[in-house]
Amino acid sequence: MIPPIANNFVAGETEAEALDHVEELNERGVKGILNLLGEHYDDRADADADADAYIDLADGLARRDLDGCISVKPSQIGLEVSDIAFEENLARIVEAADCFVWVDMEDHDTVDRTLDAFERHARETDGNVGVCVQANLKRTGDTLERLADCPGKVRLVKGAYDPPAEIAYKEKSKVDEMYREYLTYMFEEFDDGIAVGSHDPAMVEFAQELYEDHGTPFEIQMLTGVRESAQFELADEYEVYQYIPYGSKWFSYFYRRIRERKANALFALRAIVSP
Ligand code: FAD
Repeated sequence: MIPPIANNFVAGETEAEALDHVEELNERGVKGILNLLGEHYDDRADADADADAYIDLADGLARRDLDGCISVKPSQIGLEVSDIAFEENLARIVEAADCFVWVDMEDHDTVDRTLDAFERHARETDGNVGVCVQANLKRTGDTLERLADCPGKVRLVKGAYDPPAEIAYKEKSKVDEMYREYLTYMFEEFDDGIAVGSHDPAMVEFAQELYEDHGTPFEIQMLTGVRESAQFELADEYEVYQYIPYGSKWFSYFYRRIRERKANALFALRAIVSP
């Protein structure tokens, strides 16, 4: 069972709990992006099992008539097993899912294979697939030019991995500057399908300003347990999605959330001292 402090950042261990969470969010105007926790599988059977779980999950969203979609990690559905395993599992998910399918972006050396797979499916489904791109990678300007004419959505994030300095911006201020630059390009060049994947109030405000100037539709995406009151407030005016991790592999995800921010660590400590 997930302890209450970790429960803040994950929606439970089971599909049913995750779907209940989406239902509660929907009642408050926020949509859900479900992510079954799991990554870096080197065994095809594990990758196939999680692909099956995503197909069930998408079916659950449709059965319960929930406003939500799914987001898969390439290394969870076979990228580190073989290109064929990844391709076959992504194709199975995209074909079976009666909902939008996001593809998360992982380490820098997976970007080409992830983009190629995304583009193929985005064109085949006329845009029912989205991909994440990372503002800390120097190549992302070229990536966005490539994706501008491709159907499907693009989620811009700052980047959660640690790529080598030759290919990535390392200073936070530079990453923020590039985030703004890339977002501006997206609002100017994309017809729709822009997702702002950030908790940063400055980036969200910047997106709001770009929307005022250009009118290009966009959505805001934040994680479960992070700035949730802002998510509900923003949902009064904008399309807001909460990215919802769930599943039995919750501990390492929770640990990452605690390590990345002092406020989260203090929150966890307070819950332990006075539960
Ligand atoms: P930061 O730059 O970390 O912080 C800026 C400001 O935001 C802070 O000063 C504070 O005001 C506010 N803030 C940030 N965190 C908190 C918090 N916990 N509580 C309160 N305020 C806070 N990365 C990938 O590499 N690949 C992916 O596929 C991917 N998908 C993502 C999907 C979503 C929906 C989101 C939200 C993030 C995703 N990320 C992904 C992670 C992303 O790359 C960043 O590592 C992460 O979002 C932190 O950057 P930030 O823009 O939110 O804010």
